[in-house]
Amino acid sequence: MFEYAPAPESRSVVDIASSYGLFIDGSFDGGKDGDVFKTINPATEEVLAEVATAGPEDVDRAVAAARRAFGSWSALPGAERAKYLFRIARIIQERSRELAVLESLDNGKPIRDSRDVDLPLVAAHFFYYAGWADKLAYAGFGPDPRPLGVAAQVIPWNFPLLMLAWKVAPALATGNTVVLKPAETTPLSALFFADVCRQAELPPGVVNIVTGAGDTGAYLVAHPDVDKVAFTGSTEVGREIARTVSGTGKRLTLELGGKAANIVFDDAPIDQAVEGIVNGIFFNQGHVCCAGSRLLVQESLFEPLIDSLKRRMATLRVGDPLDKNTDIGAINSAAQLARIRELSEIGASEGAERWSPECPLPDRGFWFAPTIFTGVTQAHRIAREEIFGPVLSVLTFRTPDEAVAKANNTPYGLSAGVWTEKGSRILAVADRLRAGVVWANTFNKFDPASPFGGYKESGYGREGGRHGLEAYLA
Ligand code: NAD
Repeated sequence: MFEYAPAPESRSVVDIASSYGLFIDGSFDGGKDGDVFKTINPATEEVLAEVATAGPEDVDRAVAAARRAFGSWSALPGAERAKYLFRIARIIQERSRELAVLESLDNGKPIRDSRDVDLPLVAAHFFYYAGWADKLAYAGFGPDPRPLGVAAQVIPWNFPLLMLAWKVAPALATGNTVVLKPAETTPLSALFFADVCRQAELPPGVVNIVTGAGDTGAYLVAHPDVDKVAFTGSTEVGREIARTVSGTGKRLTLELGGKAANIVFDDAPIDQAVEGIVNGIFFNQGHVCCAGSRLLVQESLFEPLIDSLKRRMATLRVGDPLDKNTDIGAINSAAQLARIRELSEIGASEGAERWSPECPLPDRGFWFAPTIFTGVTQAHRIAREEIFGPVLSVLTFRTPDEAVAKANNTPYGLSAGVWTEKGSRILAVADRLRAGVVWANTFNKFDPASPFGGYKESGYGREGGRHGLEAYLA
């Protein structure tokens, strides 16, 4: 059932793959009912592949396989589990070109990002957690750290393989087994990963991949034989999952939305700050939960900074994700494009000033030009709601106190950025920001050793680093 074309650097990497199956108990199959859904290339609107839809009985089979595998997997010495994780990491490195192409085709992100950001980080997470697997007993997790059991993991479409790595690597290192559901618009790299698991000779049932839409995810997280639920996605679905899990005894981590403030003080080096602002909001088409989507500029710097930002935005290339010169790729889906357009129209109708550079966009596919809104106040919806697209809302402030108050005036609390030459100011401001991550004079920097997670409606629990292991240990 499962086929893929091992054609590195070729646009046809999935062209000849007509159907992809579920990965359950170490092999691929088409699901009990044979139902399929289509995944498309958002840059062309062409169908990339048909993928099996997992119904309740398929999810039952996947959970049962994970449960059967749990006994022997959790009983393996940590050093043995580490060998599998190291092997997976190395195979990902070896096949990273194929994976990068597949990720860009299915998601729409620029190949430069898939190749130079996503894939290296994916491998790094498996290497990092492989290193932990034999050290759990001596790392302060208590005298007898034990895995939780079967982990249900539901992930979004913005970083399909990286979100998988964030969840699967710590779960396996700690001796848990996994049933993972990728997003319905980006299922392909997770299925490719299943093939990597086979190649690494991971025992059957340790990793299972069930593809489908939200109802497949809802059935999975509600499954009575699941011990742990890990979710990344919208705050709305996160709330629903929290209600489902409440009172069941299952452990839960949620990584939800954000509306991060990127705060630029008037002593910040403008060129460096502009690069950070561009990276903060336009990287990955703005489909980033920790995107710097609210720029807070100190009033005296407003004009030179915005002039410089506009000049830089005029150099950004939007287009073919497989072109190495592309900066901004395709919006992941028609639905996401509609949401970005709607909020952009709301911003303009509420009186903020909208600006985009002259920017030719391809005729087919889902595209949105990089956009900034100035004259934004807290009353505007574009200052409060997550847009999840290449749209920046610019607000101003006079004093550090005002900057902190505005930055914290959001229901979210995932990340923030501070730009200033003064080290003491970085520390003082960061200390008062209610955000899980605060970057200083940089933005969107990730490392497997750093914990990541939010306050308030951005969720709870931490992924990454040592904290990421705690979420999978009893
Ligand atoms: P979503 O929350 O609807 O979907 C995320 C994942 O959850 C997908 O795999 C989906 O199939 C699954 N899912 C949907 N309903 C479910 C349910 N009831 N129970 C269990 N699983 C379910 O997110 P989306 O539709 O992909 O995007 C909508 C918004 O979410 C975006 O506009 C953005 O604001 C936000 N988002 C945030 C992140 C993040 O990393 N924090 C990632 C993607 C999207």
